[in-house]
Amino acid sequence: MRKDIPQIGMTYQVLNRDGVFNIREIAKEYYAQQTHLDEMEQWTHDRYLKQSSHARALVRSPSANEFKSCSVWSINHYLGLNRHPYVIEKAKEATELYGTGCGTSAMSGGHSQLHKDLQKRFAKVFSKEECILFPTGFTANSGTIAALCKGSETLIIIDRDSHASIIDGCRASGSRFIPFKHNSIQDLENKVKKFSGKHINLLVIVESAYSMEGDIAPLKKIVELKKKYGFLLYVDEAHTFGFYGENGRGLCNQLGIADDVDFIMTTLSKSTASMGGVVATSKEFASFLRWSTAYLFQAAIPAADVAVADACLDLMSSQPEIIESLWDKTHYLRQKLVDLGFDIGKSESPIVPLFVRDSDILKKMEKELYEEGVFTIAIQYPVVKASEVRFRFIVNNSHAIEDIDHLVDILSKLGKKHGLIKGL
Ligand code: PMP
Repeated sequence: MRKDIPQIGMTYQVLNRDGVFNIREIAKEYYAQQTHLDEMEQWTHDRYLKQSSHARALVRSPSANEFKSCSVWSINHYLGLNRHPYVIEKAKEATELYGTGCGTSAMSGGHSQLHKDLQKRFAKVFSKEECILFPTGFTANSGTIAALCKGSETLIIIDRDSHASIIDGCRASGSRFIPFKHNSIQDLENKVKKFSGKHINLLVIVESAYSMEGDIAPLKKIVELKKKYGFLLYVDEAHTFGFYGENGRGLCNQLGIADDVDFIMTTLSKSTASMGGVVATSKEFASFLRWSTAYLFQAAIPAADVAVADACLDLMSSQPEIIESLWDKTHYLRQKLVDLGFDIGKSESPIVPLFVRDSDILKKMEKELYEEGVFTIAIQYPVVKASEVRFRFIVNNSHAIEDIDHLVDILSKLGKKHGLIKGL
């Protein structure tokens, strides 16, 4: 096993740098790294929940022999609706009526009346003419970007911290893509000015909130730039849909800029506790996107998943207290961590990061948190810079105040032990 690989996830990159390109050899090295971590009881990558997402769950680490009861902080079911009786009932009804699976893609009969109705509903939710339903949020992004952008006629400018599905779409497009500094309007304007005259199309892609820090994009200012330079604007609302805007219709809705955004995307796997992704846009672009390979050649989501997303939309409008309660819990956790002196960065959303900034402490703490019954993910290099390694606690409405209090108690104890906050 090579000792100079800082992170198992970088195995490919390091071996390539040293001229190793044989994928059998690369696979062997991945296996050696994984086995080593497993022996050290540090193989945390494949931890899983015995009975799936909930505020508390039995969690198993691959190296452990038993499940451990933990509070769970890594799941994006913001509104906590995945076990709501109304949602479950709708999923059951849809399965009975429509059966399981769709067996094919939208273009060859994979869509039912339920799918069509959900597309219409989402078009309305995002104040757009039409909406295209993709099988996942990931392929909504990667498929849409690759369908729209095909070569040197288009330049794509993305935030440096963009999600992998956006980057994959850019790579697959064959168009040139360049990043701008995270959330920097100045850098975005510089890049737009420098390159806008050189391409027929300029597409700017941002997320309304970023998943590693929970910070919000300066969308109003980006729209001002769009009006000045005339680029196309694509906003991924994966981490704002469900709890920003009227009845959770997202941040573009809250800021009153939905009309100025050409493509509003969200996943169905977070606030709406299902699977799938939607892109809402004009009728012309929707017509274009129906030729995306992700729409043409990927099986559609089962009716039960459509019914779940639909049921969650019902609850978002009929029970605003769910959204209010998520925000109350978010503010409660954030305030407690700030009062203890933790660095929680610029988070404004239910994603609450806790900066550790030291990889050794981070790894030790990840294990200690688990031993204390707290399950979350250490965000390490190369996902973030080594100086910015952190934990991420995602509040969802199924967390009880007692879960938050327990988390804060454990963090307070470990934070003092590792010098992240002052002791008494
Ligand atoms: N966009 C963003 C910003 C995301 O965080 C994610 C999922 N983490 C996706 C898209 C992909 O969504 P899904 O996992 O539902 O396919």
